[in-house]
Formats: sequence, structure tokens, C-alpha cells
Amino acid sequence: MLDDMTKTLVEESQTSATGSTGMATRTTCPYCGVGCGVLASFDDNGARIVGDPDHPANFGRLCSKGSALGETLELKGRLLYPMERRSDGALARISWDRALERTAQRFKQIISEHGPDAVAVYLSGQLLTEDYYVANKLMKGFIGSANVDTNSRLCMASTVAGQKRAFGADTVPGCYEDLDVADLVVLVGSNAAWCHPILFQRIMRNKEERGARLIVIDTRRTATAEGADLFLQIAPGMDQALFAGLLIYLARTAAVDAAYIDRFTSGFDAAIRSAKELTPNIAATTALTGLREADVGRFFELFASTERVVTAFSQGVNQSAQGSDKVNAIINCHLATGRIGKPGASPLSLTGQPNAMGGREVGGLANSLAAHMGFDPASIDRVRRFWSAPSVVEHEGLKAVAMFEAIAQGKIKALWVVGTNPAASLPDADRARAAMRKLDFFVVSDNTRSNDTINSGAHLLLPAQAWGEKSGTVTNSERRISRQRAFLPSPGEARPDWSIFSAVARRMGYAGFDFRSAADVFREHAGLSAFENDDARDFDIGALAQLTDADYEELSPTQWPHRAGEAKGRLRFFGDGGFFTPDGRARFVSPKTPSMATQVSKPFPLRLNTGRIRDQWHTMTRTGASPRLGRHLPEPFVDINPADAAEFGVTHQGLARVSTRWGECVLRAHVTEAQPRGHIFAPIHWTDETARQARIGALVAPYVDPISGQPEAKATPAAIAPQAYAREGFLLARKPVAFPRGEWWTRVALAGAVGYRIASDRTDQEWLAFLAEESSTDDMVEFRDEQTRALRVARFDGDRPELFLSLGQTAQPWDASLAIFAENGLAGSQRRALLSGRSEATSDDGPEVCVCFGVGAKKIQAAIQEGCGTTNAIGERLRAGTNCGSCLTEIRSMILSQRRAGGEL
Ligand code: SF4
Repeated sequence: MLDDMTKTLVEESQTSATGSTGMATRTTCPYCGVGCGVLASFDDNGARIVGDPDHPANFGRLCSKGSALGETLELKGRLLYPMERRSDGALARISWDRALERTAQRFKQIISEHGPDAVAVYLSGQLLTEDYYVANKLMKGFIGSANVDTNSRLCMASTVAGQKRAFGADTVPGCYEDLDVADLVVLVGSNAAWCHPILFQRIMRNKEERGARLIVIDTRRTATAEGADLFLQIAPGMDQALFAGLLIYLARTAAVDAAYIDRFTSGFDAAIRSAKELTPNIAATTALTGLREADVGRFFELFASTERVVTAFSQGVNQSAQGSDKVNAIINCHLATGRIGKPGASPLSLTGQPNAMGGREVGGLANSLAAHMGFDPASIDRVRRFWSAPSVVEHEGLKAVAMFEAIAQGKIKALWVVGTNPAASLPDADRARAAMRKLDFFVVSDNTRSNDTINSGAHLLLPAQAWGEKSGTVTNSERRISRQRAFLPSPGEARPDWSIFSAVARRMGYAGFDFRSAADVFREHAGLSAFENDDARDFDIGALAQLTDADYEELSPTQWPHRAGEAKGRLRFFGDGGFFTPDGRARFVSPKTPSMATQVSKPFPLRLNTGRIRDQWHTMTRTGASPRLGRHLPEPFVDINPADAAEFGVTHQGLARVSTRWGECVLRAHVTEAQPRGHIFAPIHWTDETARQARIGALVAPYVDPISGQPEAKATPAAIAPQAYAREGFLLARKPVAFPRGEWWTRVALAGAVGYRIASDRTDQEWLAFLAEESSTDDMVEFRDEQTRALRVARFDGDRPELFLSLGQTAQPWDASLAIFAENGLAGSQRRALLSGRSEATSDDGPEVCVCFGVGAKKIQAAIQEGCGTTNAIGERLRAGTNCGSCLTEIRSMILSQRRAGGEL
């Protein structure tokens, strides 16, 4: 859905850029690391976003988030001009000239007074590779500081560390095609059904069409687990114990590939010795992991007897104080069996963000230099010569959590945050927010005018282009570089991030930043990757270093390495050795004894796990604008096991206060058997912009893996208690309202309106006064019932409802009220319908499961009761699940739970 300003800009651009409307632009989805190809075009109804049938990641399919991209393009809330904070705290528009000059001068001044390590840049996996490249070149090559890190540190740094230790380089050995041809897929710490939906659908297709088996290892029973042949609900932090046990089993049963071990690896015997110390037999593995011996045995036997095995892993492995060891424990089993870099056989890290991989390629992490080179003397010298850079930094910089700690301690005095929201996403986020307020100079480049980070005292805002406006490349989880192309005009004065960094670099007096286009930046990046490479480094895209602007424009998805002289990129690594260690051999890395960074205690007896949900992305800046995506799980919530809920007095659908040593939130309680006893789960998406008291990062312990620096986001000791308010209900409004302190609220995007779920202690009179203040008219209808404490008030602007509040025990169904509120002209009987929440034209289908066709849970449940026993049958009856397929696991799960309830299972 486009607002008027966006529509005008699009029409202008369609005429000027393509000469006609209706032409599709080939680009890439901006959300997860699957990196799906997208075709974007416009028709009379606005943006039309469909999957690109020719893109090898998705072959035309998109998940619910990708399918709803067209609803997220409006310019409401966009940062369109550079802005500066005045002494009264307000933001005022300034020129680009002033903004760039001020950034350059403040950075120069702070560097000259305190040295280069007094400045830092914090980047994002949402940025394009070209943006990352220029930021890294400026900081590490010219300013001379490696204090460049990225929110990808929170996502996959443990995989980087694990791969470097084992392979000598941060190399992903396999590819997506392996998921199509494997006979066994093991998913570890991955809710792929929600977080990498298109890859999960590829796995499920392999299961259906080829009979592949799926084993899911996770601490909680997710939608992914519902699709598994075997689900291992493992104790937190014990993945390395399970894979150490597997390594011993493989050795004992002669399932190892002795020739591969002998020719291509080192350290096998030591790894076996240390695995035995950790977990000498299946019984010990069972005791450590909390799994049933039979299940452990079945997993070991299936892994040992299946040649084509892919072990795919994600945040459940990475976001841990022992994340690097977990990654190596998995890799060890693949090295021992030689099942690496072969069709259908490999370890495969699933990256969270669209360009976490691109950031790794250019040195977006504080512990790498550029183009997968480290801080060894030869690499430093090579990069210095290639960049003609005077002050290439010679040591690693501070990783994300340490960087913000240095800000808190006053060691870092200037910070540039680009396209990310650390005040919401970092662990111990309140401390990070307080630290940012202390900065001498704090600049943010972003698309949005307001977020928790900007509101943490940013001095200067630089408007950056958003998805659909910017142009460059991203790399997905299988090393495939794809183009993101612009199909919208650049609004206001927004600029590409690479160009903002280049302009500041030039004003700081540095040469080497005269880039004219993203293509220019890409050519230099490709050139550096190939510079004095001679096959010694994994990352080499020398074949792309001479692309013309037209070639770059047409560039089709290609995997790296793509060395000069080769016709195409390489699908896999290491099937026949060729590791990037000094002796060319892979290393078995002995995992340490698992231990948790934190301990539960009487005040904090539970463990808080955090993660993503199906239809939202990160801090909801984009997905939060889509009414469709807001329907699946509209409120911040906490999942809790029924026994824990009973023990702590928490009720299903009641509100609960979740607290840790670091902070607290108020969340809707979902009591579910899917959550193991002793553990609670809460999503990461809500911020102070979208809810009061639901910024989950504020609760997470700031403990990190000592090798990767990745924070442990899955196991913070926590407490939970019911949180009572006098009344609950909702408010529908045509424009955002500002609640006074005290209300609990969460915002939901609606078509042409804003919805708030609320919980409140305010009286009727206080509410009526508040609504009068927020309304522009006196035309009002009201209903009150003392007994049920119901208060329903609608205020109208002509026939159009402007505000509608419903509170009390008999608050009407949210969905039905939305449908009535959406009407523009309400006559007398319809006004009453708004107050009563009843209309013949509306029904309450319950929470939406299939967002593509708007099918609610109640409808699906009714269809199951009437005999629809498969997802296909549901699809035929209701169309649910027949488009993007993101809801299929949920529908499958509903079918299974009805069969369980009916005693069939
Ligand atoms: Fe986007 Fe969904 Fe594809 Fe991820 S799986 S890239 S979110 S369409």
C-alpha cells in the first residue's frame, strides 16, 4: 500500500526510468539470509511483489514476509532530510553540506584529541556489500581504527569463528541444493519453518518427494519440530555434548571416513580423546542432554548410516556463550565422515540477515581486515598497498558488546550507527542506551525518523535510501551474490550509505573515495578479493572485477568464489580437501566442557530464550507497517510451560511481568506444552516505538562467547509473575496517539488506521478526557456497563469513525471491530454495530494463520473437525497455505493437536 507522496514519486520514476508502467525489476528480498529473488512492479493497485522464478534460492516462492513487501513501501515515518538536534532537544532539518561537514570535523577533532580508537562505527546485516566496503575502508584503512562491528555479531559470529578454526577461513562448504538431495537433514537450533521458510519448504519437499528424513534438535518444540521425523528437545547449552557423543559413536561403529581424515585433516585423535572426557558413552550423553537414550541412539544410528547428511544450524547454536564450540562439534562430525562439500552432505550455517555474509566478505566484523583477510603482517601490507592507505590498522577492534562497554566507560567518544537499532537489539540494552547518551558525538544513518537508538540522544541524523531505492549486492547463506536493484525513486534527500561514507571520507581529506556508483565500489571490492590471491584465500570474485556498469546492472546471482578466468562460481568447497590452513588440512577442534554463562537462582528460577516469529523482522521498522503481517501474532508475548505457569500464577492470555537482573517487560502469556519446563521464550521484535515495556534486549545478559564475542541470547536467568490491570481492551485510531505513562499498550498496523491493544488502570472519566483531547470533533457515541466495567466509545468525523475504544470484560472481538472501523461511512445502525461489535458482514475467525488469504485459526479448526485431515485438504477447502506456504507447519500442527486430542495419536 502506498501513501500519496510515494505514489507520485513512483509514477514519476516509472515514466522516467522505464518509460512505461508494468515492467518488473529483478531484486532480492531484504529480510532473511535465504536471499530470495523478487520481481517488483506496479499496477493500478500499487506495488506488485512476486517471487523471481529464475532465482536459484527460491525459484519463484516467497514467504509471508516477502509476499507482504508491497505493504511496506510507504514513506510515513521516513527520515527524508539530514537533521540535527538543537539545544532544546528537538530535531531540525539541515543541509547535506552542513551534516557531512559536521560529521567529518567532529570525527577528525575527536581522533586528533583522543586517537583513532576513540571513534567507532556500528553497521548492519541489512546494508549492501558496497556500503559495508566503504565504511570498512574508511575506518580500517584511513582513520586507522578497527572499531567497526555489525549487528551480525549478534547473529552468526560463532559460525565465523568455528569455520575459521576448522577450515582456516570463514567458508560455507555447502549450498542450498544440498537440502534438496540430502537423505537426512539435521536442523540444530533452527526454527527454519519461521525464520528461513523458503529453505524449510525445500527440505519438506525433499521429504515428500524423495523420502528424506528430518531431525530437529532444539530446546523448544517449534513449528519446525512439528515437521520432523525425530525431535530431540535438548537441554540448553548441550549441543556440543550431543555432537561429541556422536563423534565417539561414529568412531566406535567405524562410520568414519578414515581416508578423508588421513588425507585432509589433523587433530582427530585429540578430538576423540576430549569428546570421551566430555561424554564417554550414550548414557553420559543422555544425562547431559536430558534426552531419552532411545532417541539419542536413533539419531546416532541415522547419522552414521546415511551418507548424504546436511546439518544446518542457526541462532540456537550461534547465540550462546559456547557457540563457537557448538559449531566445531557439528563440523567435527562432518569432517570425520568426509561428508563435507559433497552433494547432499555438508554442514550448513543458516545466516539470519540478508547480507550478513556480504559484511563478512568486506571485513564488517572488528576481527577481520577486508576480503576475508586477517590482521597478519602480509595481509596488512597487501591491503595497505591495494588501498594506498596511510594508516591501515594493525590489530583487531572491539566487538559489539565490548564496543558499547567502551562507550559506557567513555573510551569511545564518537559513534556512527548505520541501519540498525542497538538500543533495542543489544543485550543489556538499557546500558547500551545509557552509554549512547554519553557520547560526545553520535550520528545515525537510517531510513526512519524515530527509533529507540535515535531517541537515545543522536546528535545528527543522515537519511539513507531504503530497500527498493538503493542499489548494490547482497550475499546469502550459500555464498550467492545477488543484486538488490532500485525500483522506487529516492525520496527527499536520501542517499546510498556508500555515498555518505565516501563524502565524509573526502571531507576528512582522504583520497581513494571518489566512487561514482555502487558498480564502482563493487569493482574495487572484487579487485581486492583477487589481489595477490593465487587461490590462497577462499573469497575471490576476481571474475567480476572488470564488470562494466551495464554488466553490473545485469549481473545474475552468482556464487563465490568466482575467480578470474572461470566461467562461473563454485557450488561447494572441501569435497577433496583444499582447506585454507597453513598445511591445507582441516582442524578437528576439541569442544570444552559445556557450562552455562549464568546460573538460575531463587529470584530468577527460569531461563529466558529469545528469538524471531514468523511474520515480523527484527525491530519491525518495515514489517510493522504491514497490516497483513500484524495479524498473525499482534502482541509481544512470552511462551511458558503449563506447569511453570501454574507454579508462578500466570494464566493463558493474561499479562505477565518477565524480569531478569538486567531489566523487565510486560508480555502476553501463551501457556503451551511446546515450551519446556523451566524455560520461557519471548520474541525480539517489539521496541519502545511499538509497545510499552516489551524491549526484550533490555532483559538479555551481556555474556558473550569468549572466541566469537557473540552474546548468549538464549538462556538469561529470569522470573515471571502475573501483571494485573483493571481492564484490557483496544483502541482504534486514524492516526497514532500518545498514551500517558502507566498504560500498557502495543501497536498494530491497520489499513488506514492504527490499532492499540491496551491494559489500563484508568477510570472512565480519565479515558473520556483523553479521547476528547485526541479527537477533533464532539460527535460521539458511548456505551457503559458498571457490572462488566465495559466502556465503549466511538468518536466520528462525519460518518467516518475517528477513534474507537473498547475496554472491559466484554470488549468485543478485535477482528470484527476492525472490519467495521475500516468502513468510511457508518450510518445509525452501523454505529451501533461498532459499539456492539456485531455485524452480519463480519465474523471473528480468531488469529490469522494464513495471512495470504486471510484465514483465521477458528475457520481452520472447524475445517479439521469437519474431516480435513491434511494440509492439502485444508488448502482445497479454504485456500490456506496454498500461496507462500509459511503457515503450513502451523496448519499441520493444528491437525496433529486435534488428532492428539481425539486420541488418534
Ligand atoms: Fe525473504 Fe522469506 Fe525469502 Fe527470507 S525466506 S528471503 S524473508 S521471502
